[in-house]
Amino acid sequence: MPHRCVLCSAQQHDNLCSACRTALPELNPSCCSLCLTPLPTFTHCGTCLNTPPLWHNIVAGYRYAFPVDVMIQKLKYGLDLTLTPILANFIVSKINHNRLPDAIIPVPLHPEKMKTRGFNQAIEISRYVSKQTDIPVLSHICLRVKNTPSQIELPWKKRQQNVRNAFTCQSDLTNKHIAILDDVMTSGATANALAKAIIKRGAAKVSVWVVARSLLSPKNQSTSQSLPQFPDECL
Ligand SMILES: [Zn+2]
Ligand SMILES: [Zn+2]
Repeated sequence: MPHRCVLCSAQQHDNLCSACRTALPELNPSCCSLCLTPLPTFTHCGTCLNTPPLWHNIVAGYRYAFPVDVMIQKLKYGLDLTLTPILANFIVSKINHNRLPDAIIPVPLHPEKMKTRGFNQAIEISRYVSKQTDIPVLSHICLRVKNTPSQIELPWKKRQQNVRNAFTCQSDLTNKHIAILDDVMTSGATANALAKAIIKRGAAKVSVWVVARSLLSPKNQSTSQSLPQFPDECL
């Protein structure tokens, strides 16, 4: 069945044509191995050396830049679920298939937020990643117990404080390798807070898998001209 490319409408066998795929915003191949900040050599950045994150490795599909930013916003706020498998594949194409985790834990939304939005994009993306990799998704064992204000409204230093103790984990994860999955990572404060709850339940290794890594401070962040700016509580 022929498809139309979701970005340029060209008729294709895939839902993203090869020209658009080639133009996606790749991350710098030389970067910090823990947070993907571009560096002249492949090592750890000053921030990760001073305050190492609790996760052990990270995989991001692309930089959070056009058109990946628009695709994520269309899924999240425009409820365009046709983008879910494409965004999931951005992660699947970058992970090391020889060292897969035991389970995927999507970053949970607070029940109040879930009620207003109606779905959790991290869970939707996780389902497609699971289909491609056979890794089980544990979407109900971790809870977001603090309905935190939007991270984007806060200075970066306050973000850590904002999500401190925001998550609890209800299952034993002794010696498990867990991948935390989210759509976007900016400061990493959310992933770190969830990693803390997971490690507390015995996990031996935590990976972070995100569709896109935002490397600019929020005030400089490029977003689509055609879409309104949305608060992003998952950053
Ligand atoms: Zn295209
Ligand atoms: Zn780093």
